[in-house]
Amino acid sequence: MARVYNFSAGPAMIPEVVLQRAKEEMLDWQGSGMSVMEMSHRGKEYVSIAQQAEADLRELLAIPSNYKVLFLQGGASLQFSMIPMNLLRGKTSADYINTGEWSKKAIKEAQKFCEVNVAASSKDTNFSTIPARNTWKLNPDAAYVHYTPNETIGGVEFQDIPEVGNVPLIADMSSNILSRPIDVSKFGLIYAGAQKNIGPAGMSIVIIREDLIGQTISNTPSMLDYKIHVDAESMYNTPPTYTWYLAGLVFKWLKENGGLSAMAAINQRKAEALYAAIDQSSFYNNPVEKCSRSWMNIPFTLANAELDKTFLAEAKKEGLTTLAGHRSVGGMRASIYNAMPEEGVQKLISFMADFEKRNA
Ligand SMILES: *Cc1c(COP(=O)(O)O)cnc(C)c1O
Repeated sequence: MARVYNFSAGPAMIPEVVLQRAKEEMLDWQGSGMSVMEMSHRGKEYVSIAQQAEADLRELLAIPSNYKVLFLQGGASLQFSMIPMNLLRGKTSADYINTGEWSKKAIKEAQKFCEVNVAASSKDTNFSTIPARNTWKLNPDAAYVHYTPNETIGGVEFQDIPEVGNVPLIADMSSNILSRPIDVSKFGLIYAGAQKNIGPAGMSIVIIREDLIGQTISNTPSMLDYKIHVDAESMYNTPPTYTWYLAGLVFKWLKENGGLSAMAAINQRKAEALYAAIDQSSFYNNPVEKCSRSWMNIPFTLANAELDKTFLAEAKKEGLTTLAGHRSVGGMRASIYNAMPEEGVQKLISFMADFEKRNA
C-alpha cells in the first residue's frame, strides 16, 4: 500500500527516510545483534545513541551550555504540573497568557499549585488572535511567565518571542519546536511532547536553564523533580528508549536537510500556499487573524458544513488523511509539520480547488 499524506495533529507524520532507516536497523542495530528496543539503557551502545541525539538537538537549536536537556515521559501534559512544582522557587504566583485550549489546560493545572495571574487573553476574539504585548498585565513578582507559542487546536502562533524582562519565560513548544530557528537564551524553560514535530509519542523534551533547577516544592515525587533527572542524565529510571532513538534519527534528518533555517523556509512556503488557497476562495475559511496564523496547524471550514463528511471521504480516497478538525471545533484542520512534504500540501490545495468546483 502506498503511504498517504497524513495531516494528523499528533501523533503525526515521520519522515519516510527515518522510518526506512529504523526498518533497516530494526533487527540488528549496527552489528549489535539486537534491536534498539532490546538494549539496556545503561549499555555502551544505547548510551551512545542517547548522547548523539542530545548533541544533535543541541546543535540544531544552538542550545547554550548553561541549559540542560531532558528526555522525559508523561507527555507535555505532565509538564503543566512539573513546571509549577519546580519553578515556583518560594514564590506564590505565576503569570499565564491564555491563547486557547492548550493554554487553558496549563492554567488549570497550575492553579493547583499557585495563584495564576492570567496576564493576557484572546478570549474576546474567540482565540483567533495573539493579545498585543502592550496589553499584558504582568506581575513583576511572578515566578515565571508561561505561554503557548503555537496553539495546535486554534491554529494561532506567536511570530516573535515576547519580551518579559527578568522573569523566566516558559514555553509549551509541543507543536512548533524545530519548525524554525529560535533563540533559546530568551527562555527559562522550553518543553514539547515528541509526537508532533520530534518523533513518536511517549516522550517529552525539556530544555531548562541551569539556575532554575533544584528548588522544588516540598514532597515533590522524585520522578517529577527536574534535578533528579538532570543528575541522572534522564536515566533515573528506564527512559522511553525507542522513542529517544527515533527522535535522534529525526534530528539527523533535519541536520542533513539544512537544519532549522531550511525547515523554516519550507514551512513558510507550505503554510503561505495553503492560506492563499483558502483566502482566495469564498468556499473555505480560516478564522485566524493574518499576523497570528500558525505555520503548523491550519484549521479551515467549508461554507456548507453538511459537506464535511464528503470532503473527508473524498480526500481520503486521494491519499489525504486525518483532515477532520479537533472534536471541540469541527471543520477541518491540516497539520503540516516538518515531515509533511511540500507535495502533500500541493496535493491538498489541488484537491480543495477541485472539490470546490464540484460542490460550490
Ligand atoms: C499536543 C499538545 C499538548 C499535549 O501533549 P501530550 O504529550 O499529549 O501531553 C500540549 N500542548 C500543546 C501545545 C500540544 O500541541
